[in-house]
Amino acid sequence: MASGSSRNIGAIVLFGPPGAGKGTQAKRISSYFGAPQISTGDILRESFRHGSELGIEAHSYMSRGELAPDSLVCRLVQQRLRQPDCQRGFILDGFPRTPSQAGWLDALLEDKIFENLRPGAALPIVIQIDVDYTELLRRLTGRRTCPSCGRIYNVYLQPPRVDELCDVDGSKLVIRNDDREDVITARLKAYDQQTRPVATYYRSKGKLYLVNGERPVDQVTRDIFAIIIHPPDTRTIPWGL
Ligand code: AMP
Repeated sequence: MASGSSRNIGAIVLFGPPGAGKGTQAKRISSYFGAPQISTGDILRESFRHGSELGIEAHSYMSRGELAPDSLVCRLVQQRLRQPDCQRGFILDGFPRTPSQAGWLDALLEDKIFENLRPGAALPIVIQIDVDYTELLRRLTGRRTCPSCGRIYNVYLQPPRVDELCDVDGSKLVIRNDDREDVITARLKAYDQQTRPVATYYRSKGKLYLVNGERPVDQVTRDIFAIIIHPPDTRTIPWGL
């Protein structure tokens, strides 16, 4: 996708269940608007690979499909957001996942640790990607990842050209540890019980924008870009429909 805009997009949160397409969309926003994608799942996996204490602690939760403790994840996010590349905005993918993380993020943004956020935009723009449960299961069980470049495939929906090999670099694709069926069920349950209330939190602040994530990827991207460029007035959106 062509690089677009040097605008300051502020804090963007991509919200939705595992398998909704947050990672795919976050990468597109990142390359178009030139703002970093901050995936807490990726940061935790990376920390584990490097053998850091936080990574090792988080790993036991991740392998069961449970959420890592708020304090641990918030500490990692804080470290990441203080990096200079976040000054013009950033895309959070997989954070916040509990109302307490959302409250923590709001307080951090209010603190004005960022110099150039959109004027008057302390609160993030939260874009919820909605996908039906059965479709989520299909996406998660079919998901394969390239261990070298991180590209994501799906054996049912978006298979590689050559079976089990990455189109870009030919690496053998892998199933993420937490994409096993028992772990997937636990992750979806954690979303329902602990993460869904985050949507209510942001809706009450007029900052939640809903996107139908079951349409082709490009259409979802188009909707998301439109929201980022001109966030509609949420008071005119009929949430009950
Ligand atoms: P993801 O790659 O976003 O699906 O995240 C993988 C796993 O990392 C989750 O199932 C959780 O165990 C952990 N994780 C990622 N982000 C968070 C978060 N914001 N809060 C708690 N745990 C998280």
